[in-house]
Amino acid sequence: MDSKDRKRNDSDTPIYGSRQMMEPAPSEYIPKHRTPAETAYRIVKDETFPQTQPRLNLATFVTTYMDDYGTRLMNEAVGINYIDETEYPRVAVMCGRCINMVANMWNTPEKGEWKTGAVGIGSSEACMLGGVAAWLRWREKRKAQGKPYDKPNLVMSTAYQVVWEKFCQLWQIEMRTVPLSRSNPTLDISKAIGMCDENTICIVPIAGVTWTGMNDDIEGLDKALEEYNQKTGYDIPIHVDAASGGFILPFLDPEKKWDFRLKWVLSISTSGHKYGLVYPGLGWIVWRDKTYLPADMSFSVNYLGANITQVGLNFSRPAAQILAQYYNFIHLGVEGYREIHSNSMDIAKYCHQKIGNMPCFKNYTEKLDNPLFVWYMEPEYDKKANWTLFDLQDKLMQSGWMVPAYTMPAAIEDMVVMRIVVRQGMSRDMADMLINDIKNAVAELEKLQYPTASRQAYLDSQKQKGHVFTH
Ligand SMILES: *Cc1c(COP(=O)(O)O)cnc(C)c1O
Repeated sequence: MDSKDRKRNDSDTPIYGSRQMMEPAPSEYIPKHRTPAETAYRIVKDETFPQTQPRLNLATFVTTYMDDYGTRLMNEAVGINYIDETEYPRVAVMCGRCINMVANMWNTPEKGEWKTGAVGIGSSEACMLGGVAAWLRWREKRKAQGKPYDKPNLVMSTAYQVVWEKFCQLWQIEMRTVPLSRSNPTLDISKAIGMCDENTICIVPIAGVTWTGMNDDIEGLDKALEEYNQKTGYDIPIHVDAASGGFILPFLDPEKKWDFRLKWVLSISTSGHKYGLVYPGLGWIVWRDKTYLPADMSFSVNYLGANITQVGLNFSRPAAQILAQYYNFIHLGVEGYREIHSNSMDIAKYCHQKIGNMPCFKNYTEKLDNPLFVWYMEPEYDKKANWTLFDLQDKLMQSGWMVPAYTMPAAIEDMVVMRIVVRQGMSRDMADMLINDIKNAVAELEKLQYPTASRQAYLDSQKQKGHVFTH
């Protein structure tokens, strides 16, 4: 480094007058030399600017708004590792209280001071734990009966979230999926029962299907399982994947039976960072009672001089989300959760109605189970349009919105839909801006004289299948 360079590396050098700002960002090796903190900060921060504003990301279910106190608690706890229970015993207590409140919110029958559950990084970890518990319980029973236990399977609809594919792949469980159809857009109960046998570790209905926003009929499934288990002598249980529904149903539809009030529901998982209203990094699972959590899954760890019992895939994890969940429970209460979620629901319904009224669109369902919905192109309009929903997605990006277009799961994978997830932080005013932007984007797309690339690709694929359109 010559003296000129050394000077330019001075802390006096204006950030954008520095040598580092003239260099490509490091991408392969750790840089040899230091960069002043402010400059490094700017390099990192500036890199994030072309991304969608999280609040305008209507693709995600995950929290993008928390109030100042919740945010402050999280920032203040940013250096706390949840696993250090000896050093931070109050964090462990608050985590236990959260599990209690979640368990009671889902009507657990378990008595006793501490309910049986675990914290996770998200629903994914919680689903994995629920799946593993079901598999181990089944295996123990098969072993005790002297029966083979090498061919476990799990039954759910094709609208599963990817974590279930991971679970089945990683633990080598056969995944049996019930196809969705346009007329039967949620789990077909009789088909699901038809796929069960002595090797079924559990059925997994979903409260808040990611693809459509709908809820599987869990009460109906429980009834059908009761009959089937009676008839066969099996005891196939239910794990509910309530990633979004777990924090919606108790507040917006408390009378609906989907949780531990049903006999065969032995475990439920949810994302604290979805409608639990905490920033990313939080999931919960609760078991009906401690007999359903196999002893093999609790690890007693002698760590830093204390014996702690741990259930989870991770060891270290941030404590901040747990404090934030506890804060939300105290601050919002049942009342507050109900108010926030019912506003989200009303805003989702408002957008649903506005979009349903546009001649080019058709809503996938008339009713909303959760504050999100999907729609598709009106079939007659679709035949003549020069654009697709993928083009609309691109256009909306130009006004900052992320509204995803995607194809549906197996059996209805020809169908392209678009989805909006309404969360805390979306006001009526923002909904109006969005609807206006959608209308303007459609007006622009309707001016096109020729098919867009995505429309052309679609026409070509249809031609190959022998469908002929007007252009
Ligand atoms: C979001 C979601 C998951 C995964 O949850 P994470 O919290 O993102 O790990 C699993 N299942 C369903 C139904 C979901 O909506």
